[in-house]
Amino acid sequence: MEANVTDRVLSDDIEDVIVSEEQIKLRVRELGRQISEDYRGKDLMLVGILRGAFVFLADLIREMGISVETDFIAISSYGSASTTSGVVRILKDLDDDIADKHVLIVEDILDTGLTLNYLIKNLSSRRPASLEICSFIVKEGKQRVPIRLKYSGFTVPNTFVVGYGLDYAQMYRNLPFIGTLKRSVYEDDAIL
Ligand code: 5GP
Repeated sequence: MEANVTDRVLSDDIEDVIVSEEQIKLRVRELGRQISEDYRGKDLMLVGILRGAFVFLADLIREMGISVETDFIAISSYGSASTTSGVVRILKDLDDDIADKHVLIVEDILDTGLTLNYLIKNLSSRRPASLEICSFIVKEGKQRVPIRLKYSGFTVPNTFVVGYGLDYAQMYRNLPFIGTLKRSVYEDDAIL
């Protein structure tokens, strides 16, 4: 009998761990310290991109020693589960005004760069004091538009990864590490 989705042990579906829980903890700590140092004395607003960035953002703010505001924007990109078309729709806008604030966009992964390219244009039209990007993961060799990152956590090979906020079909976000999926998980869906 096939296992029900709720019976599934998520780690059983992982092929390789690309970034371990320990590596993540250390890097998030370094990033939190660095950002706190760079923005000390400034009105900082972290803008998390839903849904993927919520795990990273939650860990990051707890490694920051300065006062910081947080807000979220939810976007959906038209395209298949694993490719981005660059056409982005805002599903939930920011609740707060970012005019004159120092805004740091917090993203889970930079792949083609099309999503961030759209967001930079959209958010800069709201006249923040500054606008920078922190992407936890950067996918090697995939960027189609140049995106200048102020901070990044890790560079991973050009492969589909899950965990630490990143999903496949809305699952695996709660894995505490970043890894690749076994082929058997997605072979029927042809995501790669
Ligand atoms: P981009 O616009 O840079 O191509 O794509 C950014 C978005 O695509 C990310 O925020 C994420 O939602 C999704 N994405 C890109 N690569 C991956 C990946 O390897 N795994 C997962 N789970 N999502 C990805």
